[in-house]
Amino acid sequence: MHTDLVAALDIGGTKIAGALVDGDGAILVRAQRPTPAREDGETVMGAVEAVLGELTASPLWTRVHSVGIGSAGPVDASAGTVSPVNVPGWRGFPLVARVRAVTGELPVELIGDGVAITAAEHWQGAARGHDNALCMVVSTGVGGGLVLNGRLHPGPTGNAGHIGHISVDLDGDLCPCGARGCVERIASGPHIARRALDNGWRPGPDGDTTAAAVAAAARAGDPAALAAFDRAAQALAAGIAATATLVEIDIAVIGGGVGKAGDVLFAPLRRHLASYATLSFVQGLTVVPAQMGTDAGLVGAAAAALGRREGAAAAGV
Ligand SMILES: [Zn+2]
Repeated sequence: MHTDLVAALDIGGTKIAGALVDGDGAILVRAQRPTPAREDGETVMGAVEAVLGELTASPLWTRVHSVGIGSAGPVDASAGTVSPVNVPGWRGFPLVARVRAVTGELPVELIGDGVAITAAEHWQGAARGHDNALCMVVSTGVGGGLVLNGRLHPGPTGNAGHIGHISVDLDGDLCPCGARGCVERIASGPHIARRALDNGWRPGPDGDTTAAAVAAAARAGDPAALAAFDRAAQALAAGIAATATLVEIDIAVIGGGVGKAGDVLFAPLRRHLASYATLSFVQGLTVVPAQMGTDAGLVGAAAAALGRREGAAAAGV
């Protein structure tokens, strides 16, 4: 049997998406369920099994050679478990074993969602052609992943590149992760909105207090909104510059809702980056918006599954 497809799962706090994906990244079959995030672990797994059930029922399933899973984190790829922060019913949940119970002998590759987005941007998006890249998702949280030496670098547990929880403010606010001054604590959408409100920004008649509303106010010249984005940009710049100095990336890609803010984010980000990324070998660093859309998680999970097979082939396995 000719096996040229992978099954991809994208597991987040609001939806569980699945797809059969070909070697060019085209999505041939789709399935989706809402995540019953407040329910017990078995109920959440039931939604995953429903998605898998639709995929395995497809006549194309016989062409599937491996399974890629991108999950909200933290994940532990070495143990095959996941503990998504916003799915309390899953703590150390044996997701890989449970997926294997449905899919049989196929190899399963588990990565964190930030790493999955990175795989997608490197394969088909803004980091294409870059051998050393940092890709980030800046939305309700801040996640990320790394491409090093032309390959995805998930790290032993599948979380490498999680830039949201590196500290850029030594005595900064306490972060839910336990550290202080994390990038996420300053640059996530809710924290941008919080800072804008604290500094006097007021939402419009619709009462919208999302970061998107703050971005609109910043575009209209609201000083508190501009200052909130400037502070977020500074935190992101410090984190990106640190990453570039450590491992010599030449591009940083920013996606997620906050990444869609445009010049309100990217203009101060580039300015701050110039002041933090100062050594000769990081001065060429560029920062750009993500290109992948809502399918990034699925395409990235597929890329991880495909990359696993390519790695095995290269190793002569
Ligand atoms: Zn943190």
